[in-house]
Amino acid sequence: MQELPVVSKVDATSSKIQKPSWLRVKLPIGESYKHVRGLVDTHKLHTICESGNCPNMGECWGEGTATFMILGNVCTRSCGFCAVATGRPEPVDWDEPQRVAEAIHLMKVKHAVLTSVDRDELKDGGSIIWYNTIKAVKNLNPDTTLETLIPDFKGNADQVQRIIEAAPEVVSHNMETVERLTRQVRVQAKYHRSLEVLNLLKKGGMRTKTGMMLGLGETKEEVVQSMRDLVNVGCDVLTLGQYLQPTKKHLTVQRFVHPDEFAELREIGYELGFDYVESGPLVRSSYHSEKHVIKGWGRNKWMEEKAQMIHL
Ligand code: SF4
Repeated sequence: MQELPVVSKVDATSSKIQKPSWLRVKLPIGESYKHVRGLVDTHKLHTICESGNCPNMGECWGEGTATFMILGNVCTRSCGFCAVATGRPEPVDWDEPQRVAEAIHLMKVKHAVLTSVDRDELKDGGSIIWYNTIKAVKNLNPDTTLETLIPDFKGNADQVQRIIEAAPEVVSHNMETVERLTRQVRVQAKYHRSLEVLNLLKKGGMRTKTGMMLGLGETKEEVVQSMRDLVNVGCDVLTLGQYLQPTKKHLTVQRFVHPDEFAELREIGYELGFDYVESGPLVRSSYHSEKHVIKGWGRNKWMEEKAQMIHL
């Protein structure tokens, strides 16, 4: 499953709604960023952070976090929000796991996010390459923590089990939107199948995570209902961010959600029982991902914030 689309390539003038000031992109900064930038350029490495022109790239690379996409750059699905090409993917590259492991080693990445296109044409759904990549990364980089943002594997429990056996620190699978809009936003996916994947991962002992985009036409009540559904399957980490239209051919933005509404949803998420809620207009599913590994970190911070408010 691809990362959320990051910076809209659609000019604000082509959109019916004007882009608000809070979506202004932050520029990459800092020495660590420059170091990683240099390695990426010298070794011609590929990260989704760059190809997605992510607004948080400076901050993530500064923290030693980077996102890699495996299993090629052509997807068998055609989600209405996603900029990845749909078509017939290239044959599986069995050397890819080692190359990804070496890139992470060269870039001295402390926390990596792995994601992939969907490979519905493969018998194993790509789960063997997933397993091999997690293992190769761990072997070469024993201190690097891993989040794996996986597809739904059409709900195939054996394929999901391969991820569990490879034991990354966090396994994420994005719901992307509320139940009513799933058919429109993720044409070949099913809301309850995705919930079941998260359920299987949790039962397998994984720390689980999901991401949703806001501004696609969902109501606040629908978002809260999805949050309840996610808590019911034991989902630990939730990210909520603003949907931005990558090109004119993609789903249009229905609404720019105000930062105050994101803050309110963060509050609701913690109250419902999530261990970590990341909610804001520029939040993408990998944003602050290195912190999502740490059990209790988000919730403790939220509780400290609440305690400070009481003492003000
Ligand atoms: S499954 Fe959907 S979101 Fe993921 S890469 Fe394919 S088209 Fe994009």
